[in-house]
Amino acid sequence: MYQALYRKYRPSTFEDVCGQEHITSVLKTQLQTGKVSHAYMFCGSRGTGKTTCAKILAKAVNCENPQNGEPCNECPTCREIQEDRVLDVVEMDAASNNGVDNVRRLCDEVQYLPAETKKRVYIIDEAHMITPAAFNALLKTIEEPPEHVLFIFATTEVNSIPATILSRCQRFDFKRIRPQVIVDRIMRIAGLEGIQLERDGAAVLAKLADGAMRDALSLLEACQSRQGILNAEAVVEALGLGNREMVLSLCRAVAEQNSTRCLHLIQQLYEKMSDFKEVIGDILAIYRDLLVFKCVPNAREFVQAYENEWNELEKIAALLPQETIIYQSKLIEEFYTSYDRIASEKKASGEILFLRLCNPSLSDGAEALAARIADLEKKIAAGVGVPVKKESAKKPEAKTEEPKKKAPQENPPAAENGSYPYTVKLKNLLQSEAALSSWLPQIDFLQKGDTLSILTGSFAKGVLASMGAQEKILKIAQSLSPEIQKAVLEEKSAVAKNTVSDLDEL
Ligand SMILES: [Zn+2]
Repeated sequence: MYQALYRKYRPSTFEDVCGQEHITSVLKTQLQTGKVSHAYMFCGSRGTGKTTCAKILAKAVNCENPQNGEPCNECPTCREIQEDRVLDVVEMDAASNNGVDNVRRLCDEVQYLPAETKKRVYIIDEAHMITPAAFNALLKTIEEPPEHVLFIFATTEVNSIPATILSRCQRFDFKRIRPQVIVDRIMRIAGLEGIQLERDGAAVLAKLADGAMRDALSLLEACQSRQGILNAEAVVEALGLGNREMVLSLCRAVAEQNSTRCLHLIQQLYEKMSDFKEVIGDILAIYRDLLVFKCVPNAREFVQAYENEWNELEKIAALLPQETIIYQSKLIEEFYTSYDRIASEKKASGEILFLRLCNPSLSDGAEALAARIADLEKKIAAGVGVPVKKESAKKPEAKTEEPKKKAPQENPPAAENGSYPYTVKLKNLLQSEAALSSWLPQIDFLQKGDTLSILTGSFAKGVLASMGAQEKILKIAQSLSPEIQKAVLEEKSAVAKNTVSDLDEL
């Protein structure tokens, strides 16, 4: 008979239980010292081992030959409990036995001695489903239960359990199991089952399982039918999760303000994914991780992304100031929540979203402004010059007063406005670069110190960036003016809006 993996590999001793050492060690000590309580409340999210521990505890209190607080798993009692053949170990699902009548019957039954075992054990799952009236009926029995009875309640919603019941139970809180612990265990099980699971594939499963070992194993089972090696990519494909890599590339393109690449990627994702909203949801989760990388020193511990993506995420986080991440995640979240209300042209709305993400100057509001300021600060810190607008230079007072303030930073061959003296020569030389030549009419050059700004429109900027135009231009510009150390692509409009002279005039 086929047995589900999580059943087949269900731990049979406390030692085997993963990630709940704070509970299993206490239980073992209690068993060794004979201080077992008469009622336990096991709380915690699904798949964290509550029922498994209840079952081990039921065996351990009844085992004929217990060893250091563990059941032996070999004596007839252990084996019979393991196989659910003991009448005195009762597993109840409170979801379907939650009424007063069920509980009254249970309370009557409790009075009789167990037939085969030392203790009659009641494992009551989903305990929060018991009605208040039924809990009341149970109260007295739990308060003074006969020596031979042990109650183990398990619940995912401890807040729904009446305080009167809670105060009469010993409470244990099961934690979500850490991804690393899940990865180790499913790697071991995959090995035993002959499944060729790779560590990055296991990391994907662990992330999806969200702390529940049972879910991780069910997911592994779902991938099992796939032939060959199960790496991250294969797992993603087997579970139909869409293309993570492309989503990450999209985030990277946003961080690099590469509008063209964004539009390309949206096109591909839109064609590939049946649900574009899911893509947006994934991106939102990635932004949460980016913010964690910005704010938390040991970020990797808290990042939800797959292990193999950490480096890429760190790189993206380094590109974005915190203010920009906050501004962008707000836009993405707004889009996500209103997605279902967009009647038609969802793709076009998505494209507009990403164009706005790439360019905060397309949005108003405090966050957009903060993002723009942060961007400016980043540029200044990196030594990128902020060009002065031409108009201010035309004013006579600007010629006499202002150059004193600014001139010392500028390179002597550069004209007073930071314009680049070799523009015509440079453009002539660039004509020989086939890919570049058609863009030359849309390009202006500015020099500030050792930096050559390549000014162009937002669309052209994206295209030029994707072909690595900066490096080509830098090489040729250096042959004309050796003091140039770097070349940067900038948007004409953005520069015009953010010039120093603008600020001065304020
Ligand atoms: Zn035993």
